[in-house]
Amino acid sequence: MSKTILFDLTAAELERFVTDMGQPRFRAKQIAEWMGRGAPDFSVMKNIPEKLRNDLDVVAQTLPVRVVRKLSSTDGQTVKFLLELNDGEKIECVLMRTSYGNSVCVSSQAGCAMGCKFCASTLLGLKRNLTINEIFSQILVAQWELRSDKLSDKPIRPNGDANNDDVSHIVVMGTGEPLQNTENVIGFIERANHDMGIGWRRITVSTCGIVPGIDRLIEWGRPINLAISLHAPNDELRKKIMPIANKYSIAEIMDAAWRFTDTHNRQLMIEYILLGDADGNLLNATPECANELVEIVRGKNCMVNLIPWNAVAERDFTSPSGNAVHRFQDILIKNGVHTRIRRERGTDIGSACGQLRISG
Ligand code: SAH
Repeated sequence: MSKTILFDLTAAELERFVTDMGQPRFRAKQIAEWMGRGAPDFSVMKNIPEKLRNDLDVVAQTLPVRVVRKLSSTDGQTVKFLLELNDGEKIECVLMRTSYGNSVCVSSQAGCAMGCKFCASTLLGLKRNLTINEIFSQILVAQWELRSDKLSDKPIRPNGDANNDDVSHIVVMGTGEPLQNTENVIGFIERANHDMGIGWRRITVSTCGIVPGIDRLIEWGRPINLAISLHAPNDELRKKIMPIANKYSIAEIMDAAWRFTDTHNRQLMIEYILLGDADGNLLNATPECANELVEIVRGKNCMVNLIPWNAVAERDFTSPSGNAVHRFQDILIKNGVHTRIRRERGTDIGSACGQLRISG
């Protein structure tokens, strides 16, 4: 018999669950509090009698995810979690301690259907969408990592500057295409804002450019950040590396993206991986591409994140030299485009952008 996932129960259902075990109702509140802090199991719930903790462990589990592996980068600032879902699917999330706060990169799907040629997450295709609770639990896993050793009465107040022990930023940039699971991603963000006090402006959703999904975010109306994974300055080249380009043109995607940022007066993030082909020839990183990119963003409020490609063994690309990257960036800068080269975190644990994958 599979265990009941207590995190998936409503408050009333949880109460019923504990009273059915012959326990007083206040136990439900205690358990809920522990789960809200990310408690991975009952053994840590020190205000609950040991006998009850053991009984609970036989019939129930806390979160709908279970940490099966945890990898820390050598500098200790980045931690990658491999999580198992109840149907055996595995996902990953990453905690990044940064100068501006604690950021968590969450997955929105198990696997991915997008088929981008440079990415590891899509190699095995899409398994399924994640539920709101499965996405939210990734934040709780990170929260537990930050706090478990110093559990105190201090309320969780994740506004970045107040204390260093809370998740303050979220990027929906892990495995999967968030705008193929839009309603659950929206539900998750609403919850992260409501339950953990994480501000809209500290939350970023990254998409390869699903236009109806961007329209849905506009309709939803929360002033979160939007990132577009562009990776090519024209449709012809984009189609070669991103199958989604056959469905939506760059013009359509950018039109939707600018409408989003105009609504909220936000800066658009553009993700642009710099790629060379198998022989080392520049693919989307030529000076011509840089000039085409300038035309797309000219006069707009945006930040172009240049991302050196993280090697994926199964993929036939190369990373351009530092010189080529800087030449590309210089063209953007000369034309007044805000740009930065993304500092990669967690490359040594396979958790850099697009590398999230299960390697055993
Ligand atoms: N599907 C969404 C979010 C997940 S991918 C999206 O496309 O935005 C998160 C980011 O990592 C995207 O910008 C993606 O293009 C990038 N990425 C994928 N593989 C990469 C790799 N090997 N090296 C660097 N970035 C990569």
